[in-house]
Amino acid sequence: MDDQKIERLTNDEYRALEALMQDGRMSATELSRRIGVSRATASRLIESLKKKGIAFVPRFYDGSLYAFVVSTRSTPVPEGAEAYDLIDGNRLMVVKGADIHEIEQALSNIPNKSSYLIGTGKVGEKVIKANLVCDFCGGPIQGTPVLFKKGRRTYYACCQNCLQGLKKKLGRPESN
Ligand SMILES: [Zn+2]
Repeated sequence: MDDQKIERLTNDEYRALEALMQDGRMSATELSRRIGVSRATASRLIESLKKKGIAFVPRFYDGSLYAFVVSTRSTPVPEGAEAYDLIDGNRLMVVKGADIHEIEQALSNIPNKSSYLIGTGKVGEKVIKANLVCDFCGGPIQGTPVLFKKGRRTYYACCQNCLQGLKKKLGRPESN
């Protein structure tokens, strides 16, 4: 994990980031609808997030293997496998395994195989990597930051403890 710090995000950029973290493949049009801005603004927000160091990266290969097995339609579907009935009357099953041994084991339990392929991971998915840093302890924020608004600035904390520390450091929060 690199510890490149990102520049502070504006509130709109943060809202865009939140939406994009749920679906990194979201189009600018969809993002604009989601956060209630124009499409041009949404595109601009995506660009500025990229400039500020938010990485839009392909999903990391998690080491799993996938076997795509064609068998007869009467073949029972192994537990945890996805299966599709094919137009030609056969059945396609997708079996996931942690390594080649698990895959071989799973394959040996499937009768009437006519063919199979082994894949190493899904492609086309995108995840968002945002190196947000805690404004109190300076540590990286895993998952969703705890937000604290003071004046026109939004601060990020990595946990409730840091949030409390941050509030103390910044003085009493303005009463609403
Ligand atoms: Zn912290």
